[in-house]
Amino acid sequence: MSYGHWINGTLVTPEGGRTLPVHNPATGEALGDLPLADAAQVNEAIAAAEAALPGWAATTPVRRARVLFRFKQLLDEHIDELAALITREHGKVFSDAKGEVVRGMEVVEYACGAPELLKGEHSLNVGTGVDSFSLRQPVGVVAGITPFNFPAMVPMWMFPIALACGNTFILKPSEKDPATALRLAELLTEAGLPDGVFNVVNGDKEAVDTLIDDERVTALSFVGSTPIAESIYARGAANGKRVQALGGAKNHVIVLPDANMDAVVDGLMGAAYGSAGERCMAVSVAVPVGEETADRLVAAIEKRLASLTVGDGLADPEPQMGPLVSAEHRDKVHGYVDLGVEEGAQLVVDGRGFKSSDNPDGYYLGGCLFDHVTPDMRIYKEEIFGPVLSVVRQNSLDEAIELVNAHEFANGVAIFTNHGGAARKFHERIRVGMVGVNVAIPVPMAFHSFGGWKRSRFGVLHAHGPDGVRFYTQLKTVTQRWPDAPDDANAFAMPTH
Ligand code: NAD
Repeated sequence: MSYGHWINGTLVTPEGGRTLPVHNPATGEALGDLPLADAAQVNEAIAAAEAALPGWAATTPVRRARVLFRFKQLLDEHIDELAALITREHGKVFSDAKGEVVRGMEVVEYACGAPELLKGEHSLNVGTGVDSFSLRQPVGVVAGITPFNFPAMVPMWMFPIALACGNTFILKPSEKDPATALRLAELLTEAGLPDGVFNVVNGDKEAVDTLIDDERVTALSFVGSTPIAESIYARGAANGKRVQALGGAKNHVIVLPDANMDAVVDGLMGAAYGSAGERCMAVSVAVPVGEETADRLVAAIEKRLASLTVGDGLADPEPQMGPLVSAEHRDKVHGYVDLGVEEGAQLVVDGRGFKSSDNPDGYYLGGCLFDHVTPDMRIYKEEIFGPVLSVVRQNSLDEAIELVNAHEFANGVAIFTNHGGAARKFHERIRVGMVGVNVAIPVPMAFHSFGGWKRSRFGVLHAHGPDGVRFYTQLKTVTQRWPDAPDDANAFAMPTH
């Protein structure tokens, strides 16, 4: 694979400079070396985006939407190719990779409504003979910095709406799985997007710092871990930019005694172990209410984990779970399982010994299940981001709500119950951004907005949906008074004074 940067409509492959190897986590195979942009290369991308801005901002929303319609059609045509790129670098199974492309495509569909989304507001006669109207204009050159776990979907939370609103864009994807972003850039060009409107710079902290400190970049969208989100938010805001920075998570599912246990277990298996737990909306904590509910839940998940299939996400038949993204991350998650045992949690299912006979060098870990986890344990407090589910037993719904509300992260949460009143109390009192009732992964669709609360998000607005349009536009309000129109029958005659 020839990795590079996408600047001004062309793949740029620099000679020399710093690089990082990219691996296929399913096999451990090296796929190529990724050039890491230095400040000069990032400057080239910013200059291209700045030069393209006036033309793109002046392009009518209808024409901008037409490019996005063609892009959406190309995504449909290339979905298998894109999903294979994702699986090869990320490790998630092929059908799940296709699912993330579809989730991204739905934001493109939403952004195709640009002419409607950008319609303003008008008030006639705010004073006698005075009218006011509000309109939304692009913010300028904007940048997106994205994580490894959704190399197609998370960039597509951002750039379709940013472009629809008339901005130009620089994407800094994760250095772990950069191929998808480069392919998306090629497809945008094929769809008719003018050169320079969308650029990709690959790199690490040096590239990100250059984007944050350059005054030509007016807005930053970040998705990734909480410490980086917080630092990017602080530095970007100090530089006068608008910043939305989405961070880490510890998502709970509360299970009440009256819940349908089959639906709970089906939901939890996908939510905890799908994509090897490397989703910001993955469920990492199950909170059964009552000892009997807890015993039934733990026994059912233990049973299901015994038949969990783990392997290369491109294999046929497809396994249920792929590898972790890197050897380093696999070791980190393994370390958390060791820690949980030291902390005194009961390891009901131990996936640490999992070995793939087909791919002995892949970065695999089996599904793990901890019972009797308590809120003071680090495995409860910290984001593990792997196939590890912790069960924290509680005695009542109130206790469960208090537990969730006390956590520093507040991305997603769900309840399983057949009791409408309990569900209502839960969604009213819970202090979390995205809430599910009998839905384990309550991810808002493209036409709603996505975001957590507390230390799962820094900045004001959520991603995509109506908040996406607000983030990528600035509001202008015009108040105007015109002299009265001449009301003169002789208007066509020469004035006589
Ligand atoms: P990460 O924070 O390590 O990296 C995210 C991005 O920041 C990457 O592009 C990376 O190159 C860059 N980066 C890393 N270190 C940096 C530094 N010191 N300075 C500047 N930039 C830096 O996150 P990750 O491991 O790629 O992704 C997993 C994390 O993302 C998890 O914490 C997960 O919960 C979170 N996530 C959150 C959401 C959400 O919507 N809240 C969505 C997806 C992922």
